[in-house]
Amino acid sequence: MQQVSSQDASTPVLAALVGDECSWCAAGTLAREEFKGDAAVVCEECGTPAARVW
Ligand SMILES: [Zn+2]
Repeated sequence: MQQVSSQDASTPVLAALVGDECSWCAAGTLAREEFKGDAAVVCEECGTPAARVW
């Protein structure tokens, strides 16, 4: 039996968003970060999370 963490499973989804332009501000781009302990993609400029995996 092999277990895959939710973070590993979410990586392709989050990675696809990294580098995209932020939807909420003009200057920001999205980067991998942790949001409240979960894997997420967050705007570097305004800090708005674009995607998050619980
Ligand atoms: Zn932004």
